[in-house]
Amino acid sequence: MSRNSYNRRKMKLKRLFGIRGRLVLLALILVIPLMLERARSLEDARAKQIAATSLEYKALANHTIDAQRLVISSVEAVLKSSSYIYALGTEISQPCMVMRASFRVDLPWILHLSIVDRAGRIQCSTLPGVTGLDLSDRQYLKKALVSRSLVLSDYVLSRVVHRPVLMAAYPLKTSGKEHPGAIIVASINLGWMSSVMRELGGRPGVTALLVDSNGVVLAAPDDLASTVTHPLADKALLPAVVAHENSTGVQSGSFTYRGGNEGKRTVSFARLPGSTARLIVSIDEAAISADINREIRLAYIQLAFVCLLVLLGALLVVEGLIMRPIQILAGIAQKLGRGERDIRAARHELPTEFMPLARAFNTMATQLTTRESELLASNNRLSVIATIDTVSGLANRRGFQSRLDFEWHKADQTDTELALLMIDVDHFKLYNDNYGHLEGDTCLARLGEALAGIAARTTGFAARYGGEEFCVLLPDTDVVRAMEIGEMVRSAVHDLAIPHRASASQNVTLSVGVAVTRPNPTMRIADLIEAADAALYAAKHAGRDCVIEHGRHDPPPPARISMAG
Ligand code: GH3
Ligand code: MG
Ligand code: MG
Repeated sequence: MSRNSYNRRKMKLKRLFGIRGRLVLLALILVIPLMLERARSLEDARAKQIAATSLEYKALANHTIDAQRLVISSVEAVLKSSSYIYALGTEISQPCMVMRASFRVDLPWILHLSIVDRAGRIQCSTLPGVTGLDLSDRQYLKKALVSRSLVLSDYVLSRVVHRPVLMAAYPLKTSGKEHPGAIIVASINLGWMSSVMRELGGRPGVTALLVDSNGVVLAAPDDLASTVTHPLADKALLPAVVAHENSTGVQSGSFTYRGGNEGKRTVSFARLPGSTARLIVSIDEAAISADINREIRLAYIQLAFVCLLVLLGALLVVEGLIMRPIQILAGIAQKLGRGERDIRAARHELPTEFMPLARAFNTMATQLTTRESELLASNNRLSVIATIDTVSGLANRRGFQSRLDFEWHKADQTDTELALLMIDVDHFKLYNDNYGHLEGDTCLARLGEALAGIAARTTGFAARYGGEEFCVLLPDTDVVRAMEIGEMVRSAVHDLAIPHRASASQNVTLSVGVAVTRPNPTMRIADLIEAADAALYAAKHAGRDCVIEHGRHDPPPPARISMAG
């Protein structure tokens, strides 16, 4: 990875984990456990609901089995009592009459009673017109003969009443000694058996069916009434129950089942005592928990909404409480940087936590303003100091130069004359040699004082040009006046009478060069200086202590001399 792309990635990460990102993360860290806890409790509730439903149905199924058992035992009681009655007489017609007479109408689940002989033919029946009907192929009759006890059939279509029934068969006893030669059979009304299952029906996702050993539905609650007499729709269900029975060795129980196209189901089953029929209750977990599933979905949506609100809230808070104040302060810092010294942080715009920072900003702005004006003043002082010569108290070379520039342009614009006196102390080296350098400085100071006085009187500008050289700039001054002022300078120094024993005059004297011009854009400032210098040179040549106009080589009598001349 190149260094650049590494840096780009780093910047991206930094942006992602800025204050906003971190706060969102914090909000999520707070909300996610709440979400998970809520989801967990809902999942728990779902599991409990399934378990409770399963338990409830187990109890109902047991209750139904007991009720079915009562039906069967009442049938058994009827068959046994009829069998005893039969044992009392030898004539088959006599017990038949007794049987018919004693046929209990208050047992509505018994459709009819019949006595079948060993050959499988009906000898007599509580129903008229069925005597002689052949039932020899019915397995339950054969079983009853062998077992000599009550035998319940699987689902059969009755040849007597022409409807689906469950048959109960019991071998008859004959006059004291057991001589099974005939069987008494009762046909049990499946509809009535279904009615005892009423409580098991009506709940979506729950099927409760009484099935025979072939998987044919014998009885069902009202909502599943249409399944009665039909084989189970789910062919795998009964084999699963049988397999569970075989593996556990008990005739009732429950297990989790995934069969057919349906989802996970809890199956409870119980064998109807004395028969191969089983009550099978199967609970579809998805259907049972449909309500709670809806609740869970709703809860997830609510949680997502809450989560979104929390995130939005977090973003708004971070925006209002952190980002905006930072932007305001950054804006103030930028304006301060651009030089807007009056800018101040408005306290009402900032949260309390930012007040110390705002105060610090405001103090900094005030201090900056003070420092800046101090700096300006000190700069001004410095620039004044930088243009003053400390020995003579006059402007120095730099001060002179800028004043010359100014006056040159002014004269150019006003079309006036500008005069310059270039002044040099005569034999100053000798002065130093005789009186010492310090005394030389004092002498220069006195000369400066005299020049300042003359400049003030003549609206001129006096400066120390360098060493023992001075100059006087005279705006709007013609050559006559300039020569006069030059003479004023020379005689003023005479009047000072500063002793100079090495000089012929025994006093300090000056030589003065005068140049005058009318500035225009084609001329150079340097020309004026050079002209004044040349005039000064001429004054030195002329014997010093004199004033010479540029272009002239003799000292006065004064004459009109000009730069051009
Ligand atoms: P001239 O009449 O031809 O001008 O002779 P001069 O001796 O004045 O001229 P020169 O150029 O030979 O010497 C100038 C002297 O001025 C030399 C130097 O020691 C002295 N000088 C220049 N600046 C200062 C200063 O600031 N203080 C003192 N005391 N002397 C200075
Ligand atoms: Mg000199
Ligand atoms: Mg000199």
